[in-house]
Amino acid sequence: MRLAFLGTGAAVYPERYNGAVVVDGRLLLDGGAPLLPHMHRCSVDPGAIEAVFLTHFHGDHTLGLPPFVLHRVFVDQRPITFVGPAGIAERMETLWEVSWGQDWALAMKDRFKVTYQEAKPSGSAGGYKYESIKLDHGTSGSSGYRIHVDGKILAYSGDTEATAPLDKLVDGADVAIVEATGPGDVFSHMSWEAAKDLRARHPKTRFMFNHLYTGTVEGAVSDFQVVEV
Ligand SMILES: [Zn+2]
Ligand SMILES: [Zn+2]
Repeated sequence: MRLAFLGTGAAVYPERYNGAVVVDGRLLLDGGAPLLPHMHRCSVDPGAIEAVFLTHFHGDHTLGLPPFVLHRVFVDQRPITFVGPAGIAERMETLWEVSWGQDWALAMKDRFKVTYQEAKPSGSAGGYKYESIKLDHGTSGSSGYRIHVDGKILAYSGDTEATAPLDKLVDGADVAIVEATGPGDVFSHMSWEAAKDLRARHPKTRFMFNHLYTGTVEGAVSDFQVVEV
């Protein structure tokens, strides 16, 4: 599989863009980065994205989406599925209305061929099977995903603490994209120390760490990095 990292930073780190990952040019995992220019730089066609998996609704994971959606309204009207936590349809439609005002309902909404799907324990989107696992993150939690890609399992955490559900998410996965926010006490996130321990507990899984708020850590990916797995 081909993983294109459009952004690898936490919300407030000025040296990295907010997070977004494209899998095989067809799946988008979270949408924090400036999606259209970063897809262009990584040779990803924004019209070819078939499903978007959102872990939670924090701004550093969603605020790159409105221009991407406008592309799917005016430039390429292929259907698209958004998978995310409970309330995704209402939360996303509110975001489009805040972004585009009355023009959204008047001229855009009808052209947007979207299906919203609340993340199920096991389901499929864009032709890919997945399982979702509720992770610990602040008051909202986060929906982690195990996505089946060409016979391999890709685990994607979004934001999470290093608690038992995260071990369940990465267990047996071939590849795991997991947050590692920073050193020491990182409230509602995973520390670098905990990330190292997690990797040691799952030696057969290839870990790629993202969502950094400072410096870097072993195993971290960087903005615009494209990895073939
Ligand atoms: Zn975040
Ligand atoms: Zn968050």
